[in-house]
Amino acid sequence: MSQPKILIIEDEPSLVEVLAYNLEAVGYEVLSAGDGEAGLEAARLHRPDLIVLDIMLPLMDGLEVCRQLRADERTRGIAILILTAKAEEVDEVVGFQMGADDYVIKPFKIGSLTQRIRALLRRTQHSGTDQEILAAHGLELDRWRHRSTLNGEELPLTVTEFRLLWALARQPGRAFTRHELLEAALGDSAVAQERTVDVHIKAIRQKLGRHAGLVETVRGVGYRFPEGPPALDQEETIP
Ligand code: CA
Repeated sequence: MSQPKILIIEDEPSLVEVLAYNLEAVGYEVLSAGDGEAGLEAARLHRPDLIVLDIMLPLMDGLEVCRQLRADERTRGIAILILTAKAEEVDEVVGFQMGADDYVIKPFKIGSLTQRIRALLRRTQHSGTDQEILAAHGLELDRWRHRSTLNGEELPLTVTEFRLLWALARQPGRAFTRHELLEAALGDSAVAQERTVDVHIKAIRQKLGRHAGLVETVRGVGYRFPEGPPALDQEETIP
């Protein structure tokens, strides 16, 4: 098996250098790009397993790079870890609009970043091993192909969203704590925060639209996938 390929999109040469050095030291193949456009091009050309993406970039900012990566079928499945200087950006970054899989707030320790990268790679690479399909209430999750559909229409989930929904839908009716969901979806609960689960769940519900009831809140515990058919959201009530 070849070593995982990581693309660093960051315009600070000293940070790229220290990151590349540390990632290569633990056996990853590392590529880098110094601005958003070059980063996008490198992602399409080299199809890395994971992208470390800085938000503040010349030519095209990281938010736009992320959006374009997710919109393109060739790069949609790549795991994305965002580097951000502002904690307030996290909701937008990890949430619905952006679809990043994880984030690290600058400044950070190199050791904690490599740990997060390892955890993210572990969970994304696992998703290709079991050929299994889950289907319930109009939702179909194909783990092997990483495809999800809702009533026959494609449901574009990120890797993390897919894993969260998979964990829930596998055991309908069971209430999961945020901690359990972190372990199931993020692989390494020690380095992520439980709040991350809420952000991903919010994004999943937005994508489910009127079928948001497929992820129920269990007050004081966490979340669950319903055993029986969920009620549709009454968004469009007739006056
Ligand atoms: Ca920067």
